[in-house]
Amino acid sequence: EGGGAMAAGGPGGLGSSALTLLGPAPGAPSCPHGPALLFVKTSQGKEEGRRFYACSACRDRKDCNFFQWEDEKVSETRLAAREEYNRNHQPSFTHRQNVDRYKNFVLLPLSKRRFCQECQQLLLPAEWEKHLDHQLLCDITTAQLKSPSQLLYPLENKKTNAQYLFADRSCQFLLNLLTDLGFRRVLSVGTPRLHEVIQSKASQEEEFSVRSLLLDIDFRYSQFYTEDEFCHYNMFNHHFFGGEAAHETCRKFLYEENGEKVIMVTDPSFGGLVEALATSFKKLMAMWKETEKEGHDNNEMPMFWIFPYFFESRILDCFPSFRMMDYQVDYDNHALYKHGKTGRRQSPVRIFTNLTPSMIVLPEEEGYRFCTVCQRYVSSGNQHCDICNSCTSKDGRRWKHCVLCKKCVKPSWFHCNNCNFCTLQNHNCEKTDVGCFVCGETDHKRSACPSLSRT
Ligand code: SAH
Ligand code: ZN
Ligand code: ZN
Ligand code: ZN
Ligand code: ZN
Repeated sequence: EGGGAMAAGGPGGLGSSALTLLGPAPGAPSCPHGPALLFVKTSQGKEEGRRFYACSACRDRKDCNFFQWEDEKVSETRLAAREEYNRNHQPSFTHRQNVDRYKNFVLLPLSKRRFCQECQQLLLPAEWEKHLDHQLLCDITTAQLKSPSQLLYPLENKKTNAQYLFADRSCQFLLNLLTDLGFRRVLSVGTPRLHEVIQSKASQEEEFSVRSLLLDIDFRYSQFYTEDEFCHYNMFNHHFFGGEAAHETCRKFLYEENGEKVIMVTDPSFGGLVEALATSFKKLMAMWKETEKEGHDNNEMPMFWIFPYFFESRILDCFPSFRMMDYQVDYDNHALYKHGKTGRRQSPVRIFTNLTPSMIVLPEEEGYRFCTVCQRYVSSGNQHCDICNSCTSKDGRRWKHCVLCKKCVKPSWFHCNNCNFCTLQNHNCEKTDVGCFVCGETDHKRSACPSLSRT
């Protein structure tokens, strides 16, 4: 399972060596984030590297420093210590306890509803004194409880768990799109804002019958949702922290009762590990498939995978049935990823889907148009190239065809007769550029990668 090279660095960062993900392995040791993933580090010139396990969820050693050589002998005492460590590094309340706390919290009068911003926790009156010198939010309304993504601060760790929340415009677009397509259940994997918009709409509007199950590694959400609405889940190793019961919740949700069609929507952080994500998503697809023995024929569970366009080839390698849509997904808390025409940077984030592209109707008022040849909606700037016979732009700007490269290239590129391909005019011919370790693009380095920068 797994395989393929990953772009981002892992333990120790990258030197002149390359790190390859070998994927989940049977019998892998666990850290607090579930089973570790197997990697191999190869140095230039050397043939075979030594294999090791590292945390699946954290790219940053500061967040989880789990490391073990594959062939390392681990003593009984160290194993016991590790187990103890893993136990101690679980959240202080269980999901069940949080659900009970919530029930008590909503019974409180407004004046007694407090949220600790430092601990990111709803407080019951008996706990106030422990948080006396913390920043508190008071008078927490029902509306606030229904929008936890606004109450909680977005996690900021660039490497491990950066949370980029959908702008309203994009969230509404996604919701309208999937309801228009007839979906009644949404498996929200790492999309807490989409989940909360669905939940609150369902609680307010009688005729709105869409349901959502949130799978996310951010356990703070367990304060606001029951076990039927949220599962603590790691999408890099398909680990359900709630064990078999949580697994079963997910399985039940995927079972399409009364013809209620399911779609999975996911918006992972883009620190790399596309192949690990794909492995987990295939397992979720398999869960869906197993819920109905005959019904699904050879179909795949419908999916929207929201990710930057420069990962297109790696996603398509994992999921050949997917296509990239031109729609630009925007975020609230990301400076570079705001929608705009000129001057500002445009969002590089797109929707990858296994649904028929012509069904994904993009808003004409935002400049998208239907290309009858390609049978899909494209950006206004995306011109159909008669030689390539497709609408070739990836970033929304008009691309130009290069007869020598036999393909369309970015408008800012020129054909270099020395290198024999199209590239930036002021490049260095001798130096073949390895590009950015995060996204693979050649026009910037890791430190300037747009997928890591934020407000
Ligand atoms: N745009 C989305 C949020 C995307 S941010 C929205 O507005 O709803 C990425 C999300 O993935 C965050 O919610 C984060 O908590 C979650 N996440 C990050 N690492 C994860 C992991 N290993 N497993 C599961 N979820 C993860
Ligand atoms: Zn870990
Ligand atoms: Zn076209
Ligand atoms: Zn072309
Ligand atoms: Zn060229």
